Amino acid sequence: MNIIAIDIGGTEIKYGLVNEEGEILFSSSLLTEASKGVEQLLKKIDKIIEEFISTYLIAGIGISATGQIDGKQGVVVGGTNLIPGWIGTKLVEILEEKYKVPTILENDVNCATLGEMWLGAAKGKKNFICLTIGTGIGGGVVLNGRLLTGEGSVAAEFGHIQIVKDGKECGCGNKGCYQAYASTTALLKLVEEKMGRNLNGKEFFEEVHKNSIPYIEILNEWVDYFTDGLSSLIYIFNPSLVVIGGGISKQGDFLMDIFKKSLEKKVMKNYLDILTIKMAERGNDAGILGASYLLIEKNKKTNQKSY
Ligand SMILES: [Zn+2]
Repeated sequence: MNIIAIDIGGTEIKYGLVNEEGEILFSSSLLTEASKGVEQLLKKIDKIIEEFISTYLIAGIGISATGQIDGKQGVVVGGTNLIPGWIGTKLVEILEEKYKVPTILENDVNCATLGEMWLGAAKGKKNFICLTIGTGIGGGVVLNGRLLTGEGSVAAEFGHIQIVKDGKECGCGNKGCYQAYASTTALLKLVEEKMGRNLNGKEFFEEVHKNSIPYIEILNEWVDYFTDGLSSLIYIFNPSLVVIGGGISKQGDFLMDIFKKSLEKKVMKNYLDILTIKMAERGNDAGILGASYLLIEKNKKTNQKSY
């Protein structure tokens, strides 16, 4: 049996058909058109589900989505108002009633974390953390093989940990948040401030690879903030692995070596001796894989109960 897996992002909806071994049998994407609101989004989700459900035997629907999600209740509970009407949507209830198949909903970074655990960089790992670096910094934590969700299901929002007192403003309304200093957006803002150039991530690293001193200095400043936050996370969770996702992961070993050198100055040896840092391996597929994994887990629990 296959799973219909859907990953709802702010700009794009990725979706596919995944089997129980995690093979992606088919995948595609369409635009979210977030500003058109939740009704429009639900129509798009229906269209995707109906395309598959009429043709294949389906074990369920796994949905990874942007925003703060209560995975236990299958409800969107918070986040920015990127998709009008999205907060408060009881998506699991709506879809289970309509399609009569098991459904799960979980936050996209948590899904990506589980996708990497199932079939990516964190395969076989029981204690690890995942950071996705992009417009913000998202976090996922696996402790003793289980996703850390917290009482309100919104744990591991790493991006809003304050790392600078009265620092730069963050989209959350607070000042000095980790993501205001160590996200890709923060890096590119630094380039604009210091060099007067509006570059994208790829262009920035091209300058760095030309050994241009001012760009290397900007990179070092940004890395210093990034590892300030990361070293605190390492002290809290004592992970065996840190997985770094987002566009920046394309920089591979080059950036990894810089991160490691910076961490060596900040974190005690016994924490680092057992720690590996890796770039994410499943890229854009991690979300739909993680959502499929959670659906399979839900079905296993249901089957156990029925015996
Ligand atoms: Zn913030």
